[in-house]
Amino acid sequence: MKIFDYIKKYQYEQLIFCHDPAAGLKAIICIHDTTLGPALGGTRMWNYASEEEAILDVLRLARGMTYKNAAAGLNLGGAKTVVIGDPKKDKSEALFRALGRYIQGLSGRYITAEDVGTCVEDMDYIKMETNYVAGLTSTVHSSGDPSPVTAYGTWKGIKACASETWGSDSMEGRTIAIQGLGHVGFALCKLLHDEGAKLIVTDINEGNVMRAVTEFGAKAVQANEIYGVDCDIFSPCALGAIINDDTIPQFKCRIIAGSANNQLKEERHGDVITNKGILYAPDFIINAGGVINIYDEMLEGGYCPDRALRKVESVYGNVKQVIAISKRDKIPTYQAADILAEERIKTIGRVRKTYL
Ligand code: NAD
Repeated sequence: MKIFDYIKKYQYEQLIFCHDPAAGLKAIICIHDTTLGPALGGTRMWNYASEEEAILDVLRLARGMTYKNAAAGLNLGGAKTVVIGDPKKDKSEALFRALGRYIQGLSGRYITAEDVGTCVEDMDYIKMETNYVAGLTSTVHSSGDPSPVTAYGTWKGIKACASETWGSDSMEGRTIAIQGLGHVGFALCKLLHDEGAKLIVTDINEGNVMRAVTEFGAKAVQANEIYGVDCDIFSPCALGAIINDDTIPQFKCRIIAGSANNQLKEERHGDVITNKGILYAPDFIINAGGVINIYDEMLEGGYCPDRALRKVESVYGNVKQVIAISKRDKIPTYQAADILAEERIKTIGRVRKTYL
């Protein structure tokens, strides 16, 4: 792999290899862009098949965070860390503290948080060595589990899409199919149910399904049936790559809007659903509630839940802005989302060039 060619093509700032044999740490930190502020992105722990796979993953994920943070209106750049190892077997206090020391060495250019394969307890170890970590065990100063806030932002994003499609953002009487009733999906069900929506749900966990049926009167379907149900909105809140060649012909919805990451299997699937007349809320725009919540920990006075929730309401406007760019430039919404982020980085980057 020609790393410098790749870094040049996508304008990466820094790639850092962290190795502490005594602690069993093999990690890579990638800082993509700090135009808007310190780079925030979680630490992923994964049993990568090769070092090349780990490098590619950290590069791709770091760039994704630049776009997510910028489009959410945060003064944050984008970065990510990957730890090479099995999260079920290879975790230790020493490993995360060693990583914490590397992060401290970057003096605030990079701030980490939890991600796939890491949890708040791991962040607590990192915190012993650095101040540049967010999403710690819930205290008055930390934001705790981001999922309810992500659900709140997703709900706002769904309403923005409804307003665009039907001229009203009310969920009263709308039918919404929800895939995945985990931390985000279940909280989203409650918000939609409280507003008078009818729910069709699925999950591979029977207990989660039963809770939604009992508490919200939801109709349950098998996991593979959810794509083809009669509904107004399909809300993916479980897996990635669920917009693909197999599922697209089944969709009967007008809107796809949910919290899952990387919903388009390939970019071309974003074009296909657009041509089918389905409005797609780009994933990194609609699921930004979690990162907006974490960002609040870094603001003046520390974490303030009300202020964080108010900021998460901006997801509504961000989705609307993406739709406006998509109409302006006659492009699908997934491309418009990138443009929203790029335009903000360009504009604010110019403002910040002035010497003070
Ligand atoms: P979770 O693990 O709590 O919930 C996922 C649920 O999906 C589980 O209940 C699981 O049983 C179910 N599921 C898995 N495979 C399924 C299948 N084939 N069919 C139906 N259900 C299936 O995760 P979460 O925190 O609720 O996150 C949901 C999605 O949102 C993920 O893609 C995540 O990356 C994304 N996301 C979450 C947050 C957050 O704050 N938690 C923020 C941004 C994005």
